[in-house]
Amino acid sequence: MSFFDHHVHTGYSRCVKTPYAIKAALERALQRGYVEGIGITNHVHFNSPEQEHLVKSRAEIDALNRKLKAPRVLLGAEVDVDHPTGKFVLTKISQGLVDYVIAGPHNLPHQSLAMDGMDKEEFAEYFGTLEEIIVNSFSKNPVDIWVHPFLQEIEIGGEFFSEYIFAMLPRILTVLKECDIAMEISATFHRDKMDTVKIFKQGQHDEPWLQVIRITNKIYKAALDHGGINFSFGSDAHELEDAGDIGMPAAIAGLLGIPGSHILHITDLKLSR
Ligand SMILES: [Zn+2]
Ligand SMILES: [Zn+2]
Repeated sequence: MSFFDHHVHTGYSRCVKTPYAIKAALERALQRGYVEGIGITNHVHFNSPEQEHLVKSRAEIDALNRKLKAPRVLLGAEVDVDHPTGKFVLTKISQGLVDYVIAGPHNLPHQSLAMDGMDKEEFAEYFGTLEEIIVNSFSKNPVDIWVHPFLQEIEIGGEFFSEYIFAMLPRILTVLKECDIAMEISATFHRDKMDTVKIFKQGQHDEPWLQVIRITNKIYKAALDHGGINFSFGSDAHELEDAGDIGMPAAIAGLLGIPGSHILHITDLKLSR
């Protein structure tokens, strides 16, 4: 069985420290033996939404697929959504260039959640805004996949914000289902977020990494139980070594019993637009 890694960055993302080519990322991913192809999803930022890189990537990807005589690489974009009205920064021209769109908030002031003196009212305000951002951005725009659900809040709080997250999740899941938006099962939690938690509940002694694993699995399970929601696997690779790193997402999907028919493959995303 092989799977699609829909979430790979290359040198066109400023957060990639050592740039590498699309071809190199594909070769690394295919070496793993369980990857059928990759999607290149460099950032389109909310505040400086430069999108020229999509034109260059489109040409590189088309040439590569022609050479391989099979579509192994798709072009996506990781669009930052950051406004409660659902403002969307991917231009119509860019929307016509890409095969699919992945999106999620990246720039909320989540570090402020760990500041001294934060109270329930301020938490409620933060999460209220987050809910509006996600619901409006996803219901009004052409998004195919919600990336790393609640990454910013989980990386800083582990399970600390569970009550807020699970209060808003049902409404978001309804949007995902109605708009046919898949949920990403992301490798970044298990790979990169095992020691980032800064806020702990009193008397809560569970290791942060265990909290991260538990809450992400609970989110995936809620989406599965909601019914009719698809899932997709993302390495969120920012280094060549991590391209195609979707073994953990595939294992999680297997353990949760997500049916194969609800896991997106390269052909599903190519056909979506
Ligand atoms: Zn991201
Ligand atoms: Zn990413």
